[in-house]
Amino acid sequence: SSTVVWFRRDLRTADHPALLAAAERASAALGLFVLDPVLLRASGRPRIEFLHRCLRSLDRELGGRLVVVDGDPVEVVPRVAAAVGASSVHVSADAGPYGRTRDAAVERHVELVRVGSPYAVTPGRVAKPDGTPYRVFTPFRKAWLAHGWPAPADTDASTVDWIASDLGRALPAGEGLPDVGALWARFRDERLPDYAKHRDRPDLDGTSRFSAFLKWGVVHPRTLLADLGPDASAFRDELAWRDFYADVLWHRPDSARRNLDRRFDRLRVDDDQERFRAWCEGRTGYPFVDAGMRQLLAEGWVHNRVRMVVASFLVKDLHLPWWWGARHFMRHLVDGDLASNQHGWQWVAGTGTDAAPFFRVFNPVTQGEKFDPNGDYVRRYVPELRDIPGKAVHQPRDPVVDHAHERREALARYAAIKG
Ligand code: FAD
Repeated sequence: SSTVVWFRRDLRTADHPALLAAAERASAALGLFVLDPVLLRASGRPRIEFLHRCLRSLDRELGGRLVVVDGDPVEVVPRVAAAVGASSVHVSADAGPYGRTRDAAVERHVELVRVGSPYAVTPGRVAKPDGTPYRVFTPFRKAWLAHGWPAPADTDASTVDWIASDLGRALPAGEGLPDVGALWARFRDERLPDYAKHRDRPDLDGTSRFSAFLKWGVVHPRTLLADLGPDASAFRDELAWRDFYADVLWHRPDSARRNLDRRFDRLRVDDDQERFRAWCEGRTGYPFVDAGMRQLLAEGWVHNRVRMVVASFLVKDLHLPWWWGARHFMRHLVDGDLASNQHGWQWVAGTGTDAAPFFRVFNPVTQGEKFDPNGDYVRRYVPELRDIPGKAVHQPRDPVVDHAHERREALARYAAIKG
């Protein structure tokens, strides 16, 4: 008997519960990935290239037997299953709004067996005592810790006998991923001890840079959590934020597109395309903001502190809709993840979860001076400022707007909808 393992956001074979379930059910499995044009359309080049790297690595793990097919999964998955005589398809559950709708449609044609998810705790499982979902992080984290998660599943590529097939297409030639286990071991040994102290400093290499691996499930968060010592609570909490936002989105799929707190629908926003372009291209005249936006275009990754500052600038200095910025991020971030991104944006805009800090307006100059104290981060990404020494590099040059003025404007607009 045979089955299909349809990989989506679980591009690995280690700690993969769906592989165990597939091996129990069938003597052999076809490993499938579907390049869905709906998802690719919203992705920029760095994102697609990173996905290809993940797929090449997974294909190597599977001994060259990963089957990659272009098309609509609703058509492709049942067709591939039928071609190998499989009556079931094994997946890690997808908690996002698009994935849930897609999976429900696939399920009308072939049995879908969901085992595990990309999160330590599957979205929807942590609830208040009265059964309703959490909207504030700190109590969620407490309940999340109390709920706990299973130990990593003992799997690898040999857990399943992979079916060879010519149903797929070749991936463009190129490299795979670096050795992610070795990268993790280095971070754990060298950076994790100072993580709490350095995690807000974009000029230092103090964070794991594991977000894109987590996004595609190259590594499962549970694998990392099992490897953390008792002093690593700051890092563990970041993984809790990831689970939290997935939980919020699971309960409120509409929050991917609109304000979680609907009172903010009345907030007045502008639609200045010229200013939006200046922000996207890193030409606002605020060096810390411009460095972040150029890092995004160059690397497809931006430090968390800088994501907060550039997002605040778009929403509170330029008064543009948060979803414009979120869309730009999703196109370019290699770690672009609907739950973390839309809710990261809504947190900054004050329209989402938590004690909404709508009155907090980041000052792009003092944020730079505080978190990039020598200006090294700015000089790395804004070459025309390379000759300006030290923190003087954070002073605005030909700014598109005056921060002090726009701050007052933002507060006035928020005040207009309060109460
Ligand atoms: P580390 O500091 O090493 O953290 C470890 C892991 O914890 C990360 O890889 C990530 O999976 C998770 N994590 C850390 N911070 C957060 C957070 N605030 N919310 C949710 N998970 C977190 N993260 C994404 O993965 N995808 C996104 O699309 C995304 N968009 C964002 C948009 C905005 C406006 C903001 C403010 C934040 C966004 N984040 C997003 C969260 C955070 O910036 C990144 O996860 C982090 O910078 C990734 O770098 P790292 O792996 O070195 O993080």
